[in-house]
Parts: sequence; structure tokens; C-alpha cells
Amino acid sequence: RYRKSKNYKEKMLGFYDSLFVDSEKIKPGNWNNLFKNNNPIMIEVGCGKGGFLIELAKRNKNINYIGIEKVEPLVLEALDEIKREGLQNILFTSFDANHIESQFEKNEISRVYLNFSDPWPKKRHSKRRLTSINFLKKYREILDSEKEIIFKSDNSGLFEFTLTELSAAKALITSVDINLHSKEKDEKDEKYILTEYEKRFLAQGMPIYRVTAHL
Ligand code: SAM
Repeated sequence: RYRKSKNYKEKMLGFYDSLFVDSEKIKPGNWNNLFKNNNPIMIEVGCGKGGFLIELAKRNKNINYIGIEKVEPLVLEALDEIKREGLQNILFTSFDANHIESQFEKNEISRVYLNFSDPWPKKRHSKRRLTSINFLKKYREILDSEKEIIFKSDNSGLFEFTLTELSAAKALITSVDINLHSKEKDEKDEKYILTEYEKRFLAQGMPIYRVTAHL
């Protein structure tokens, strides 16, 4: 599937230089310098092709967004769109979120989004889930005083697990939706922005779960 972008790395590091940050060049504490302002920074962990974050960036020009995706070629398409739209407030990078606490300084981030994270259904893989308590502790280290985390999923098992882990981490849950798209939509509300996976699950009639919390 990624064959057509065989030279994607050169593309990212050349033409897309200012949109894609090579993980080897990340300097914790330097993200606002890359955006050339002091606006708050929000991240999506496991952003896939980045459609959700791009829509947020279009709507909120005074917020900076960083998409983190461990599969580097996935973000190529996103970069094309950002370039087309001329967005200045969004960047993508690629690393495994396992090391997220070493890529940002304490307080550098205002919010973490997690959308349709891989469920890792086997119990022995539960530590890989991006909402397991070990990950929550890493996010907490880099979040500022608001410590906001927002999670959406089609997977009831992962959703329940996430609620349990949030409470184990003594997070304060601030809102819960158990069938997000069953209600009348306020299109202006960002919670209705569909991610790539969400479009698929919605087409299959799956309920979508969402929780927001202070970590
Ligand atoms: N958020 C997108 C959406 O809703 O359309 C993509 C969802 S997809 C099911 C999950 C994504 O998370 C995949 O692209 C995967 O590569 C990425 N991912 C999984 N574990 C990760 C990790 N430890 N660090 C960074 N990205 C990760």
C-alpha cells in the first residue's frame, strides 16, 4: 500500500521540511519555536492519516497541533493537504508513543487526543494499549496544568478499560458519551469531527464512545 511513496522519506525531509519533524531532530522544549509562537500545543497520539487534526487546525488557528504516528508513511497524505491549505499551526512527527515523555518537556502540551487506538484485545498485550496506566503517566508528565485527555473509540472493551485506567490514575472524568452520533449534532462542536476510522465504523452502524478527563 505504501509502495507508491517509495521515496517518502526524502519527500518528507525535503519538500515537506517544515511540516514533518524527523524524530531524531526533536528537541524537547523547542516545539513552540517551530511554530514561531507561544500558543498552546495539543497532540494526537496515533493520528493515522491526520484528517481529524487537520480539521481542528483549520478551525482553531490559535492552537498548535502535533500529530504523532508510529507508521511514518501514513502521514504523507496529511502533509499534502496541509501544504495545499497553507496551514501554519500543524506538524507531524513519527515515533513510538512509548517514548513520548522524552520528546516533550514537562508542561509543554495542553491536551492529548487519542482516537480509535488499537484495542490489543489479548490481556497479555494490555500494556500496549495507549490508555493503559503506564501511558497515562507518561502523558501526565508532559501535560500542563489543564491535563486534558480526550479519547474516542468504537471498541466497548477498550472504552471500559480506559475508564478503569483513568480512575486508577485518579483522573477526573469530565464527560462521557456512549453513543456519540445518536444525538442531534452541533456541527461546531469538535467532538463530531470524524476521524478516518470513525467514518468506517459509523458506516457500519457502530456506536462511538467518547470520554474527556483531567489527568
Ligand atoms: N486516529 C486515527 C483514526 O481515528 O482514524 C487512526 C486510528 S488507527 C486504528 C491507530 C493508529 O495508531 C495506527 O495508525 C497506529 O500505527 C497508531 N499507533 C498505534 N500504537 C502507536 C504507538 N505506540 N505510537 C504511535 N502511534 C501508534
